[in-house]
Amino acid sequence: MMIRDHYLNSASQVASPNCDDRPDPDDISLLVIHCISLPPEQFEGEYIDQLFCNDLNPSAHPYFQEIHQLRVSAHLLIRRDGSIRQYVPFNRRAWHAGVSKYQDRERCNDFSIGIELEGAINLAYTDIQYRRLADVCRALLTNYPQLSNQRIVGHSDIAPDRKTDPGPFFDWHHFHELLDSDAVSPRA
Ligand SMILES: [Zn+2]
Repeated sequence: MMIRDHYLNSASQVASPNCDDRPDPDDISLLVIHCISLPPEQFEGEYIDQLFCNDLNPSAHPYFQEIHQLRVSAHLLIRRDGSIRQYVPFNRRAWHAGVSKYQDRERCNDFSIGIELEGAINLAYTDIQYRRLADVCRALLTNYPQLSNQRIVGHSDIAPDRKTDPGPFFDWHHFHELLDSDAVSPRA
C-alpha cells in the first residue's frame, strides 16, 4: 500500500466537494477513526458516497431526511469487505471531526486525517477491516512523519460530549497489535 501525491494507491477515488485547504498544509499530525453506516447498521448500497458528495436522496430512507443537508466528508472509508474509498486527498482538509479538541488544540480537521470504518458503535468490525486499517495507518505513518502510533484516536476521544464512535466494539488493543507486528516484520 503506497501513497503518491496524497492519494492512496489501493483506494478507489470518489471526489468529495466537502473539503478545503488546511491552514498549514505541512501539519498532518493526527489520525481520527470513525464509523458510519447508511442507513444506520446497514451495509449495502452507495449511500455513504452519496452523503459525502452531497447527493443523498432524502426520500430514500427516513433517516436521510435528517442528514442529507450535512456537508461532511472523510479522507477514507474502509468498507465491511475491506475495500477502500478515498474522498479527499490527504493534503486537503476533510470535514469529519466537527467541534473537537486534541490535547490543547481545537479544530482537529485542520491537522488530522479522518478514516471511516463502515460499521456501527454497537457492532463488531470485520477482520479484514482491522487488517486494512493497520495497512493504511502504516502507509500514512511512513508518508507523514508527524503522525505516530500514539497520535491515532477515536472521534469520541476528541469530541467526548458529542460523539461515541468508533464505539466499544472497536478493539484498540487488536488494532495496535496489528500495527506493531507488521511494523517489525514488514511484508511485501
Ligand atoms: Zn465520527
